[in-house]
Amino acid sequence: MTIPSPFMTPERAGFRDNLDRFFADRVRPNIETWEAAGRVPQHIHEDLGALGVFGFGVPEAYGGLGFDDPFLRCDYAERAFGCGASGVAAAVGGRVISIGPMVQFAPEPFKRLILPEIVAGRIGSALAITEPGGGSDVAALSTRADRRGDGWVLNGCKTFITGGMEADWFVVGARTGKPGLAGISLFLVPAGVPGFSRSSIGDKMGWLCSDQATLYFEDCTLPEDALIGPENKGFLAIMGNFNYERLSMTAGCLGMMRLCYASALGWARERRTFGRRLIEHQAIAHKFAEISARIDLTEAYLERICWDISQGRMPVAEISKAKVQATKALEYVASEAMQIFGGAAYLRGNPVERVWREIKVMAIGGGSEEILRDLAVRQMGLAEA
Ligand SMILES: Cc1cc2nc3c(=O)[nH]c(=O)nc-3n(C[C@H](O)[C@H](O)[C@H](O)COP(=O)(O)OP(=O)(O)OC[C@H]3O[C@@H](n4cnc5c(N)ncnc54)[C@H](O)[C@@H]3O)c2cc1C
Repeated sequence: MTIPSPFMTPERAGFRDNLDRFFADRVRPNIETWEAAGRVPQHIHEDLGALGVFGFGVPEAYGGLGFDDPFLRCDYAERAFGCGASGVAAAVGGRVISIGPMVQFAPEPFKRLILPEIVAGRIGSALAITEPGGGSDVAALSTRADRRGDGWVLNGCKTFITGGMEADWFVVGARTGKPGLAGISLFLVPAGVPGFSRSSIGDKMGWLCSDQATLYFEDCTLPEDALIGPENKGFLAIMGNFNYERLSMTAGCLGMMRLCYASALGWARERRTFGRRLIEHQAIAHKFAEISARIDLTEAYLERICWDISQGRMPVAEISKAKVQATKALEYVASEAMQIFGGAAYLRGNPVERVWREIKVMAIGGGSEEILRDLAVRQMGLAEA
């Protein structure tokens, strides 16, 4: 957007510059290698940890920044998802989405000893909600945790768990009570517990340098304090945690759209057809007007939401609508950017080709478009009058 943002600060601009340098120098040149390996190297987790990106909302005593800032969270997500392969953001994303419940609910010794290691990127963590039976209907999850003696026994299966192949700790949603949303609790589960195993979900369309795992819990014995947060009230915690995940994914879409715009514009300025550069053909120039409008709208919506959060509110309806708007905008922008590239868009290695393969995970993961529209409508109370 050519209009300066009223929400930009020197601190934000500096943080964004740091991230830009990091992703340009340390990440972008290695993407092909990491995709072939199916993972990013361990030092990337630690380098990002050193930049502070896992420390938002984490007290300093637990290794965090000691403050939260929705704008900075989004600046990170925009840069990470837009770095050339949104799989890089996913590769460290299991950690990002599981830290919140740990800060809120984990026992004090865990927060003092283990959480700083996770926030620093030295050990991994993941959030395990989705099951083979379904991900949208969280209230129907069937993994069970039953009281036995002075602890718990966990049985069930989770799938699509990002970072699950390498994580050392999991935040797991499990049923402790009656059917429905009022019978779910959260558990902190170490990867080393007897009865735990995992396997990779296998070949995927995108996010190639990140892993997703199926997790199996067979009579895993857990201590009493593995239950984190109030018993049978885990559903609310899961829903609360989704807000930042969805906000980050919206910012991620913004970064991916910016990547499409910049790549397609570079091409349109060089490629010549019918004696002129592509950008000089009106039909192509108009595509950039449309693309940049979609980007501007997403940015403006996101910043308004960040401002609202910074005022102490959590605008769930707007977060839900913004994520849907952003994934739809991303689909449009990536399609038009590919059209501008012509046949070159169809080749592996073209940055927009990779974005194209990573649209759907943004539209399905972290709350699908259908589920989020539904949530927005309920939050707005449209059926109540
Ligand atoms: C690459 C990747 C990474 C992921 N990482 C994680 C992770 O780290 N942790 C985790 O817990 N999960 C993770 N997920 C799972 C993700 O959150 C789920 O895929 C998502 O919530 C949708 O669940 P589902 O795939 O089971 O689809 P389903 O719930 O089976 O839904 C199928 C389709 O039906 C639609 N639908 C469902 N119910 C309704 C309805 N009532 N009305 C209208 N439409 C409906 C959905 O929108 C969807 O389009 C990941 C998924 C992917 C693909």
